Amino acid sequence: MIENNFTKQLVLIGGGHANVQVLKKLCMNRIKGLHTVLISERYEATYSGMTPGYIHKDFSKKEISIDLQRLCFNAGATFIKDKVIKIETKNQKLELQNFHSINYDLLSINTGSISNSKKINIENSSKYFFVKPISSLVKNLKKIDQIIKNKKNKIVIIGGGVASYELAFSLVKRYEEPLEITILGKKILGEKNLNQKTKNKLRAIAKNLNIKEYSGEVVSISETNLTLNNGKKINCNLSLLSTGANIEMWLLDSDLGKDENGFITVDYNLLSINKKNIFVTGDACSIENNTRAKSGVMAVRQGEILKENIFLKLTGKKLIKFRPQRNWLYLIGTYENYALLNYFFLSFHARWCWKLKVWIDKNFINKFKFAENQNMTKKNFELENSKDIKMYCQGCGSKVSKGTLVDYIRKINDNVDLTDSAIINNNSSKILQTIDHIKLFSSLNPFDFGKISYLHSQNDILSAGGIVKSLSVSIGVPFSENFIEKFYLEYFMEGIRSEADKDKCLISSGHSYQSRESGITLTLNGEIESIAAKNSAREGDLIYLSKPLGTGYLLAAYFKNSEMLSSNDFEKIIKNLKMGNLFAVNSARSSGCQTMTDISGYGLSSHLIDICSSSDLSSELIINKNILINSNLDLLKIFQSTGFENNYKSTNEFIEISENHPLKNILYDPQTNGPILMAIEKNNKEKFENFFSNKLDNKPILIGKFVNKSKKIIYVDE
Ligand SMILES: Cc1cc2nc3c(=O)[nH]c(=O)nc-3n(C[C@H](O)[C@H](O)[C@H](O)COP(=O)(O)OP(=O)(O)OC[C@H]3O[C@@H](n4cnc5c(N)ncnc54)[C@H](O)[C@@H]3O)c2cc1C
Repeated sequence: MIENNFTKQLVLIGGGHANVQVLKKLCMNRIKGLHTVLISERYEATYSGMTPGYIHKDFSKKEISIDLQRLCFNAGATFIKDKVIKIETKNQKLELQNFHSINYDLLSINTGSISNSKKINIENSSKYFFVKPISSLVKNLKKIDQIIKNKKNKIVIIGGGVASYELAFSLVKRYEEPLEITILGKKILGEKNLNQKTKNKLRAIAKNLNIKEYSGEVVSISETNLTLNNGKKINCNLSLLSTGANIEMWLLDSDLGKDENGFITVDYNLLSINKKNIFVTGDACSIENNTRAKSGVMAVRQGEILKENIFLKLTGKKLIKFRPQRNWLYLIGTYENYALLNYFFLSFHARWCWKLKVWIDKNFINKFKFAENQNMTKKNFELENSKDIKMYCQGCGSKVSKGTLVDYIRKINDNVDLTDSAIINNNSSKILQTIDHIKLFSSLNPFDFGKISYLHSQNDILSAGGIVKSLSVSIGVPFSENFIEKFYLEYFMEGIRSEADKDKCLISSGHSYQSRESGITLTLNGEIESIAAKNSAREGDLIYLSKPLGTGYLLAAYFKNSEMLSSNDFEKIIKNLKMGNLFAVNSARSSGCQTMTDISGYGLSSHLIDICSSSDLSSELIINKNILINSNLDLLKIFQSTGFENNYKSTNEFIEISENHPLKNILYDPQTNGPILMAIEKNNKEKFENFFSNKLDNKPILIGKFVNKSKKIIYVDE
């Protein structure tokens, strides 16, 4: 019996305030047969309510961010870091900036808005930043810091809405030295929902903080000034555009129904007025016959309805209606630990308002933090018209459907004949051959996984002195149909191809199957390019690693929801996993290296012992934090991947290392696409290091040297 056969694909675009709530619901509820994908430009979503607080250093970046990869992991969804650039509603297809297109059965767009600069001519020499989307403001904050630190600036916030005031207040608090800030807008504080008392207080606070106000419409920005539509020039060398919201081009160009400003019109169920399989929420949408100001609060409220409606739609039930409020609570951060509250005719400026704001905001953001090892019980739902597949073909019948396979092959090759086997031309009668299988890390982009699995296998050929010439692949996709089967097949294969093409490697044969455990098996064939043997290391040779270690315990920590790893840390792990070793190996070969090995699932100790034993030597290691992908030693102490224990048991007796050595566990940590360990003759040290650093951004990591054979095989210095 198949536990889950994916038949429908829900695609979420943008990790905005509404889509994150859909994913949170999926953490605790499962719809059998549903496959979910989130496409987001960034690994993190920024919570707008806390951003001014982040600018004035009340909160850290971590506190105001939602880790989208981790959210997807807990929700059982796949995360793709990319930008959607086109939608073809007829074919239910999305085009992405970097990756292959993705199809959807049901779509939810929550991509926010961008600052409106349509009527402003911006000269290249000028220094300016858009404050929308809010995530881009957070990203650019360091650059803004740099500009402000370097010289005394005349800063103009172009806008005039409440966001401009909040931004100005938080900038004043951020920097110790006094700033010259002007808020310049066509309409100053024009928001209908702000009462007069609040407007007066905002202006009084601004005055007290030396923030100037100016009414006018900016038509151009140059390096030194702004020009208004009446011709007047205002001195300015840093401008922040907090102008009204605008929508991105790909949505403007789409055939989705829009209002007069280009925003996607939705009905009260939050469905596009002309495409009933597309939900749109947040700044990107406008509700039919109901104009409301765009805000994070509105996006959060819509998210509460969106998450229910997506479930109701998929399970074939009646949708519920979103009832937009006429007025809502404003809490605007002002002085340190003070906020201004506005609600209908009420207006208070006090410490308790700030406390209330922090309480509300933390209440929201904490929903997206996960406790370590948290196992959320799931309620089960069924897709509308779901069918149970009691038995599935086993043996050779468990393949991916022929249609999906042929469609994919047709995309990459004119010849769609599925031949029984391939002819490979070899220059030599000897070939190197290796086989590897790795299982898909849940929530990981299958393209990245394809790439990683190729690089992981390539290491075997490289360290044996070869270059890859051809490969055979077996792809295990989840039990699935239609768009989902296609998605996995294409993404896995394209990931593999992205690396294979660099090697001019022929993909000579393949097999595919459906399985509970998705993964990739690769057989690589290589030609020998240089002499390599594990028994040729010599006493005094230096031991280098081509890149740092740590994928085993770091992935374990991340997927156990450890708070000690942020999405930035995860990005670093993925960057490391996608880093190949070809150039490093070429540098070593050019420096006379004939002994190398790849650090794989057995860890550093086992592979080093192999070389020492074959070469009849021991080794002395001096290791420090620079051999780690992540320098937090507590992580290494606390977390271990499943292979650790076996690695420890099989090699520990050959190693002399102090019990308290802070890096002890790294010796046994299993690596996916790990570094290559290279033995370099002492005289070639400089040549090798120069060669390596000229080709790559990073440096090779020197970890020790080979020594005369002793009682133990590895000695690790304190
Ligand atoms: C300085 C400032 C302060 C503010 N303070 C508040 C406040 O206190 N309270 C409040 O209610 N509102 C506030 N706002 C308004 C608020 O920022 C927005 O209204 C809110 O962020 C919109 O939410 P959203 O869910 O629609 O989209 P967003 O929160 O903007 O999220 C959209 C996400 O989609 C991603 N994305 C965009 N395009 C694509 C694409 N093509 N493909 C993939 N991903 C994509 C973006 O990277 C982003 O992560 C403030 C705005 C500013 C500028």
